[in-house]
Amino acid sequence: MAKTRERRCTRCGGQGGWRGWPGWTCYRCAGTGIDPTPEIVRTPEEEAKLAKRRQQYHDRKLRKAEEQLESNLNAHEGLREAFETAYAEGNDHCLTGFATDIMSKARRFDLTEKQAEAFIEHIDKRIQTHREREEARVPAPEGRVNIEGKIATARVEYNHYGSTVKILLIDDRGFKVWVTLPSKIMDAEIGDRVMMTVTLTPTDDDPTFAIGKRPTKGEIV
Ligand SMILES: [Zn+2]
Repeated sequence: MAKTRERRCTRCGGQGGWRGWPGWTCYRCAGTGIDPTPEIVRTPEEEAKLAKRRQQYHDRKLRKAEEQLESNLNAHEGLREAFETAYAEGNDHCLTGFATDIMSKARRFDLTEKQAEAFIEHIDKRIQTHREREEARVPAPEGRVNIEGKIATARVEYNHYGSTVKILLIDDRGFKVWVTLPSKIMDAEIGDRVMMTVTLTPTDDDPTFAIGKRPTKGEIV
């Protein structure tokens, strides 16, 4: 058993009360200034023992979660493949709120047939939609052009002068543009439709993806 040491009340700091409180007296220590929960003083050996116990508890929990997951993956046909697909590199578009929720539940308890089916269907759909979008891509034009489309992602970038918001715009014609969000439409959010004039340079490794420079005439549409 670890030793304990008296400590000052964590609410009143040992004063026993404060002028702003009704009746002055501190309810945590009843005015004594001594905290009802003493400080625990452990020897290095006790500290090590506790750390070991915590590690064992953590390991046991992890093992249990893995066993639960394995049991779920064995119980539902197609679930293992769906999990592998969702975790595969480049398939981040599968990791939606719904998907990650089911993936976490699968480590905690038995999934119902309905949940498993919904997950498999969801992953199939995400893969298919993504593929269709990829196939619909066209090479980006070059030079000074007007672009219009949806904001797919956004990222704040910091530099010496402050910060700028970079967005990935999916143009309606089927190409992507990485460009600074014009300050005029700073309020625009992911999912909003915007238009602007930019100078486009398609990237070397992906002609359907262009870098936009000197954006002007930003507008939310
Ligand atoms: Zn107190």
